[in-house]
Amino acid sequence: MKYLIRLDDVCETMGWNKWLRIETMFDSYGIKPLIAVIPHNEDPMQKIDPPNPNYWQWLKKVELKGWEIGLHGYNHVYQTKEGGINPIHNRSEFAGVPLEVQKEKIKKGITKLNSMGFSPKIFVAPSHTFDRNTLEALKSESTIRIISDTMALNPYKQDDFVFIPQQVGAVRNIPVPGIYTFCYHPNTMTETDFLNLEHFLSNHKRKFIAFNQLKLNNVKSKSLIDKLLALSYFKFRAIFR
Ligand SMILES: [Zn+2]
Repeated sequence: MKYLIRLDDVCETMGWNKWLRIETMFDSYGIKPLIAVIPHNEDPMQKIDPPNPNYWQWLKKVELKGWEIGLHGYNHVYQTKEGGINPIHNRSEFAGVPLEVQKEKIKKGITKLNSMGFSPKIFVAPSHTFDRNTLEALKSESTIRIISDTMALNPYKQDDFVFIPQQVGAVRNIPVPGIYTFCYHPNTMTETDFLNLEHFLSNHKRKFIAFNQLKLNNVKSKSLIDKLLALSYFKFRAIFR
C-alpha cells in the first residue's frame, strides 16, 4: 500500500496563501507531491491572485526539494465537451481536439517550461481528460512517456506509456493493496480540507512516497484485476469517490 499526492493548477496567478500553507504542511511531514503546472494559463478560474513575480523561482525551489513537475496542458481552457479515454468530466482542453492542434499545445507547453529551466516527465491532463491523439501528440512533440490518471490499482504500461493511476480525491485509508494517487486543487481547498489533510498526514505519513520513488522501469501491462475493473469503470470510480 503506497500513497502519492498530486496538486493541480500551478500558475503565476494561483492562490498563493493556500499554496504556501500546503508547502509548509508538506515540508513538516516530508511529503513530495506531483504538481500540475499550467505553462500558459488563460483560464479565468485560475486567475486568483495577481501574477507573482517570484513564481518561476518558487517553482525551481520546490523542484529542488523533490516536488515533481508535471505538464498540465497548455492554457487550461476547455475546448470540447468530451471525456476521451478517462471520462471523469465531459470537458477537455484535449479530448476531441484535432491532432495537429494538440501537437501545437504540447509543443508550446514544453517549449515554455524548457525555457524556464524545467523538463516535465509526467503529463497531467486538465480535468483528467485526454484521448489517443493526446498520446500521439506527446510522442511526437515531447519525451514525456508517463501519464498521471486513469483507474487501476497499480501503474501499468499501455501504448508506449506508463500510466500512474489517479483514483481518489481527498485522503482516506484504502483497504485494498495498490498504489493510490490522491488529487487536490489547493486553490479551492477549504479550512476543513486543510485540517482533514493534515490530520491524515500526521497519522499516515509513512505510507506516502514521492513520484520519483516509483519503480517504473519494468512496469507490466494491466493486471487481470485491473482489466476487469476497467470494464466497470464507473462502478470502480464510485468506490473511490
Ligand atoms: Zn487543472
